[in-house]
Amino acid sequence: PDTTVAFIGLGTMGRPMAGRLLAVGYRLTVHDLLPEAVDALAAAGAGTARSARSAATGADVVITMLPNGPHVRAALSGPDGALAAMRPGGVLVDMSTIDPPTSRELAELAGRHGVRMLDAPVSGSSAGAADGSLTVMVGGDAATLAELRPLLGELGRTIVHCGGNGAGVSVKLANQIIAGTSMAAVAESYALARSLGVDPRLLFEVVSAGSGDCWALRTRPPVAGVLATSPAENDFRPGFKGILMCKDLDLALATAAAHAVDLPVTHRARELYARMSEEGLGERDFSAVFALLTKEE
Ligand code: NAD
Repeated sequence: PDTTVAFIGLGTMGRPMAGRLLAVGYRLTVHDLLPEAVDALAAAGAGTARSARSAATGADVVITMLPNGPHVRAALSGPDGALAAMRPGGVLVDMSTIDPPTSRELAELAGRHGVRMLDAPVSGSSAGAADGSLTVMVGGDAATLAELRPLLGELGRTIVHCGGNGAGVSVKLANQIIAGTSMAAVAESYALARSLGVDPRLLFEVVSAGSGDCWALRTRPPVAGVLATSPAENDFRPGFKGILMCKDLDLALATAAAHAVDLPVTHRARELYARMSEEGLGERDFSAVFALLTKEE
């Protein structure tokens, strides 16, 4: 493809996503605060940059895949930010999960530089990032999305236009309420089953064919010996970090509060994910929330 791309944020998700774009021939320059993250992509043939601004120099498209709103703002604005280097007519695609007001604010800031912005957060975990099967929720101008579809199609299988700027992250937060609370429920189910002496493999077999079936269960039964690809097989290596799920539920709760919507179950689940960090589990996959429920045994 005849498109020059800057990719900023090479963590659990960004690294495999950038790798896919490189593999299909995009001219790619990458940046991350961690040198080892940059080195991995450089070894695969990407150009490297020490700042977001220098990564964005000459880029048609700048993609950010960063933890939260303040990180995206830091990478985009200010004298070392990507916007200072982007050409008018360029496109900024923020694929991070951040709050809708910040996303809309950054879209306005981009607009003042003549840059179009899409919020395009994803669902599907690191496995989906590696095999290009992510679900991408897009907010912004439909014509800009049409232009970007070939590129986004290398990263995701399902790409849905959700509305104007901020609509993608709004849908993503609604998704995270289900992902976060259902994982907590799966963990509780496994905790009770353990105390009752139920075989965890049998529980998986029955529930995945029953009314308790859900993505959290099918990808992350929280005990070893049930599913080869579950983070539980690998000491809860992420995957999706507990600290990021806590962040997403914080964003969902703040958004709900701003619209006077009460989310009691999300509130309770958020407390559990917050405790993961207090107990040194924040960098583990969010399915390690199970460990909080079974600690005394
Ligand atoms: P991560 O913590 O693994 O990676 C984030 C990367 O950003 C790190 O390498 C960090 O060094 C870098 N970074 C932070 N601030 C920076 C800055 N100012 N400039 C340059 N680099 C900076 O996170 P992740 O799991 O890759 O998630 C990224 C985003 O995608 C988050 O918003 C997360 O909620 C979302 N997300 C994650 C998953 C998942 O399964 N991991 C799935 C869907 C969405």
